[in-house]
Amino acid sequence: MMIRPVIRKERLFTPGPTPVPPFVTAAMARAAVLHHRHPEFREIWQRVCEGLPSLWGVSEPVVLLAGSGTAGMEALVANLFEPGEKVLVGSIGKFGERWVEIARQRGLDVVVVERPYGYALSADQVAAALAAHPDATGFLMQACETSTGVENPLGSMAEVFAGRSVLWVVDAISGMGTMPIEAAAWGIDGLVTASQKAWMLPPGLAMVYLSPRAWEKARRVRTRPYYLDLVRLRGAQEEGDSAFTPAIPLVIALGEVIDYIRRLGGLKSLIQNSQQLAEYCRRRLTEGRWTLFAKEHPASALTAVEVPPGLDGTLWVRKLREDYGLIVAGGQGSLKGRIFRVSHMGYVDLADVAGLMACLEEAYRSLVHG
Ligand SMILES: *Cc1c(COP(=O)(O)O)cnc(C)c1O
Repeated sequence: MMIRPVIRKERLFTPGPTPVPPFVTAAMARAAVLHHRHPEFREIWQRVCEGLPSLWGVSEPVVLLAGSGTAGMEALVANLFEPGEKVLVGSIGKFGERWVEIARQRGLDVVVVERPYGYALSADQVAAALAAHPDATGFLMQACETSTGVENPLGSMAEVFAGRSVLWVVDAISGMGTMPIEAAAWGIDGLVTASQKAWMLPPGLAMVYLSPRAWEKARRVRTRPYYLDLVRLRGAQEEGDSAFTPAIPLVIALGEVIDYIRRLGGLKSLIQNSQQLAEYCRRRLTEGRWTLFAKEHPASALTAVEVPPGLDGTLWVRKLREDYGLIVAGGQGSLKGRIFRVSHMGYVDLADVAGLMACLEEAYRSLVHG
């Protein structure tokens, strides 16, 4: 018999936006009446500006931008490279292609280093590309490619980049808080993440880190943008201030999230949470005879599942929403209808993922057997 209970709680399993804890909603409601020059907000702002680098284990500041993750990607490109500079982009999916588009729009000379969808970049491939293009001043890639559910093995690339002047720029929008990323120890020069991924917040806030030498480079770039000028934003933060009106509700709630992650045991505990849920999710899916889309290095942030031949994945996604209230993500671009993606980043527990797995099976059964 088909199981289709009357009560359906809407739950987000999308790889951004992700579920928001009740304490975040409460903090954001409180924020609606606070001005950003008010002493109470200034105190929170300063606490967040100090709290992020300490949570991430870096000594350079983390710049807060009002904007989604892509604003942070664009800020990195526009602050670190002048038009005409040559950069390499390691692309393993849709967000790698976004790096290419942003860099081309900036007037950079872009060389694409690719792997097919479902695969990761390797340290050897990165080394070969650097050797072939010694004049490149940047190498852009993803930590986790959210369109395919694949992680790049960043840790193994650190020694390839060591001793080179090329700036290593990482889109860790879904990677931060879901996989180990030692920005300072590995020599990553630019890093971005965004509020609606592992940070348990609604969208609208990007967080950007630069290494000391990347800051030096940014100060020399004469064509830095206006709103996304990282040097100016950093300067304001160092004065305990914000250059523009900040995303006040998100900043206040981020203060609460930082405290919460500390109580969990720090960033490594949050990462372990994702890793364990990812492991569980993969086990349940493969036991259910389904195939993971990732051919190597499956991500901890999200899992991409191949839709069995003969079944339209968009129907499966719709059924999950209509019958069980579960919002999962379909495939993007050429993967539309062929895969769907479920997130286990941020504020997610075992009961959430186990419930999702049960509903996936129910939805599949009713699609196949009517
Ligand atoms: C979500 C995501 C983005 C896009 O971020 P927006 O906040 O939608 O601008 C870029 N890269 C990766 C890896 C992502 O997961």
